Amino acid sequence: MDEREDICKCNKCKFDIAAVALNSLPPKYVVTEAGGLYGRVKNLNYQFETDIIMVVAKAMDIVSKNPKHE
Ligand SMILES: [Zn+2]
Repeated sequence: MDEREDICKCNKCKFDIAAVALNSLPPKYVVTEAGGLYGRVKNLNYQFETDIIMVVAKAMDIVSKNPKHE
């Protein structure tokens, strides 16, 4: 996952981002403990990776605008 200065790095926000992203992806993807998203299948093609990047970026925007941390 790309590091972005404007995104909170606390665990709550990281898991929030992962949860939002995962909800937008087909179930072939899994969330890692760091909040990153990885394909469970071995032969990820370029389009899948592009989809993940786009979905995670969108999830970052959503969570950064509505952070759930205290
Ligand atoms: Zn946070």
